[in-house]
This record gives sequence, structure tokens and C-alpha cells, in this order.
Amino acid sequence: MKQLYDYVDAHRDEYIALLQKFCRQPSISAQNVGIKEMVDLIVKELATIQITPEIVETSGNPIIYGEIKGKNENRTLSFYNHYDVQPPEPLEEWKSDPFGAEIRDGKLYARGATDNKGSLLSRVCAIKAYQAVYGQLPLNIKLIYEGEEEVGSPHLSEFAHKYPDRLKTDGFAWEGGSKQLDGPLEVGLGVKGLLYIELRCRTAVSDLHSSNAAIVKNPAWRLVHALATMKDANDRVTIDGFYDSVKKPTDYEMDCLKTLNFREDKTKERLGLDGFINDLTGVPLLEKLYYQPTANIAGFKAGYLGDGAKTVMPGNAVVKMDLRLVPDQKPDEILKLVREHLDRRGFTDIEVVRLSGEPPFRANPECLFAQTVIKCVEPVYGMKPEVFISSSGTTAMYQFCHDAGLDAVMFGAGNEASNIHAPNENIILEDYINAIKMAATVMEEFAKA
Ligand SMILES: [Zn+2]
Repeated sequence: MKQLYDYVDAHRDEYIALLQKFCRQPSISAQNVGIKEMVDLIVKELATIQITPEIVETSGNPIIYGEIKGKNENRTLSFYNHYDVQPPEPLEEWKSDPFGAEIRDGKLYARGATDNKGSLLSRVCAIKAYQAVYGQLPLNIKLIYEGEEEVGSPHLSEFAHKYPDRLKTDGFAWEGGSKQLDGPLEVGLGVKGLLYIELRCRTAVSDLHSSNAAIVKNPAWRLVHALATMKDANDRVTIDGFYDSVKKPTDYEMDCLKTLNFREDKTKERLGLDGFINDLTGVPLLEKLYYQPTANIAGFKAGYLGDGAKTVMPGNAVVKMDLRLVPDQKPDEILKLVREHLDRRGFTDIEVVRLSGEPPFRANPECLFAQTVIKCVEPVYGMKPEVFISSSGTTAMYQFCHDAGLDAVMFGAGNEASNIHAPNENIILEDYINAIKMAATVMEEFAKA
């Protein structure tokens, strides 16, 4: 691949300019901004690699689907990416325009630079470079670009069930993927699931004078008491039956944890922590992070939070909770457990509303595609990857991959300080260029494997 790597280095400026062009086009799914313009831009770009994509309409934003034949007609590699981005707010915390794609100190700053335009384009540029250096691609490629990943992929399974042929593939490269700043690339083979709920409690028609606290139930206290039954002080989730379907990690899964270079001190410093929960360290800390479910209070709203004192009793209180799930927990089963748990304790006045749900997913770590990706890392990055059986986060892998029997593998252009979803999102230009080489190497090696 030396010839191809040299070609990529020689065309570096062109690939960076392309990423700037993509980042300067906002495509915010949550606010319905710039989606059509972004789709047009992608279609134009794909024409340069001889792909005329189909714009597959869904009940939401369209999915862009394209394919191109390669020399090995019996081997297909699919790239899943998304063209939508998170809203840039809060704008005042950005050091440059979120859609300006300014380059400073070897990094490009923009909303979507890493998540997910850098990853999407690294694969397009890999195809570009391969075609320029060797002509026809070594294997068939399918491209699937979603426009609603950042709002929970509400129509991805609609696409998957409507067009099973377009999902047929031998290797499925997922979006995302990270790298340690001065360490190895991460290869991800799975994700946690997610159940997002609201607990709502209303005890009066409106907020009241707080003298009524003597005789009227306070909805915030109701929620506090209910929440206190859901997790104990040692961080064990105490929702009845919550751990019943949790699979014990296999020996192989535990061994993978031992190979991870999780820098506890650096993480504590970066996040401003004085320690981790239960003073965990080493493998037990990683087991909790990657293989254990969570029940997180994401937000709590009730009463008065403005300046000064206001003696008021809230008439209504709301808690948002996200519960990250691991195999074989299912969002709807957990939702039912939460409801039953609260009812059993007399909290029938608390409404439980499901906002979204996504089951956990894991690929088979021994499948040919996963093993090929793992082998491709060292020639590009000069060191072996860290292999994650499951990420601590969630994407829509299950609804896309489970029924279709796909083993999705995640590798990309981001790093631990890319600030995705946060102000000053950025991509290190060197990582972007390496991601182009990585995608091209995977095409080449998977065609032969
Ligand atoms: Zn994202």
C-alpha cells in the first residue's frame, strides 16, 4: 500500500479542503437545518467516485444509498455513516464559528468535523485515492448514509426492513470510532443499549404558596423518594429484576479488558474527578464501564431555580433518566420493570414515559471482518489497536445489524478529545489522513482475506 499512502499524503490538502466544504454546510437534524443542501453536496461528491446514489425517502430525512462494483465480485464491504450533526449550541462557548471549519494547530474545528463528516469523508477519500492509484476497487462497496443519527435514528429500521438486499454484505464498517491522543486506534465491536425515560409527577394544578407544603404532597419529594428506591449508595441499581438478564462476561471478554490502556489518572484530571465510583480501579473499573448497565439521572426539574429566595411549592416535577443496557437487557422489558417496581412501592402517581429505546449489540469478535480490521491497524498507525467488545455508549447498531445478521465493526477518525456533541468539536488533521489510509487498507485486505 506504500504507493497509495504516498498518494494520500500528496493529496492531503485536497482532502482537508473537502472536509472544510462539508463542515461549512450545516446539517442539523434536530432543528431541520440544511439537510437538503447537505444531501445535494454528498450526491455531487459521490459522482466524482463514479457512484450515482439513490436518495431513499423515509418518513424523516432521506437515506443516501450507493454501490460500486469491485474486482472481487464475491466480496462486499459496507460503510455506514451519517450526514447530520448535533446542534452547535451553546454558541458563546465556541472559539470560532461552528460552521467555519477553521484550522488551528493541526486541528479543524467545526460541528460535525469528527461526528461524522470526518469519518464519512475518510472513506470517500479512500475510494478516491484507490481509484486514482490502482483503478478499479478491490471489492464491492456499499455506502449507507443516514440523516437522523443524532436524533436517535428513528427511520433506520424502516430502511433495514424495507430493503434487506441493500444491507447484504460481508463486512459492515460502522461510523464513529476513537483513538487515544498519543496512543492506539480503538476498534469497537459493540455498544450498550439505552432506555431513555421521564418520570413525571403532578400533585396540584399549579405551583402553590409553600405554606401548602404542610398539607399537600410535594411532587419533587415524591420523585426523590421514588428515585431513592432505584439505586443504592454503592451504585447498585435496585430496580426489581434489573440484573436478571445481564450476561456474565466471558473469559475472552474479561481478557480483552486487560489489554486496554485506560489511563485512570489522566481521565480523572481531564474530568476534574477526585476518584471513580466505589474507588474502583483496574479491571473492575473497566468491567463496570464497559460491561455493566447504568441508571443515570440526566435532569431534574421542579419549582423555582432563579435568583434569590422564592417560597413556592412545585405542583409538578420531572426527572429525565437514561439507563444504559448490556446483553441481554431489552429496553421495553426494563421499562416494564421500572413501572412494576414503582407500583409495588405505591408510586402509582408517578407517570413513566418512554422517550427512546435501543437494545445493546455485540458483533462476533472472531468474525473475518473484525479480525481483518484489527490486522490493518498496525501498518497504518504503527501500533496495535485496542479492541473494545462494547463501547460504554450507544448507537443504533442493533436495529440495523441484529435482524440482518451483520457483524458491525467500528473504527474512525475521532479521538478522546474531539469534543463531539460539545462546543469546539474538532478533528486532528493527521488522524483524518490516517483514517483515509486505514479505510483503503481495509478495502484491500478484506478483498483478499
Ligand atoms: Zn453524534
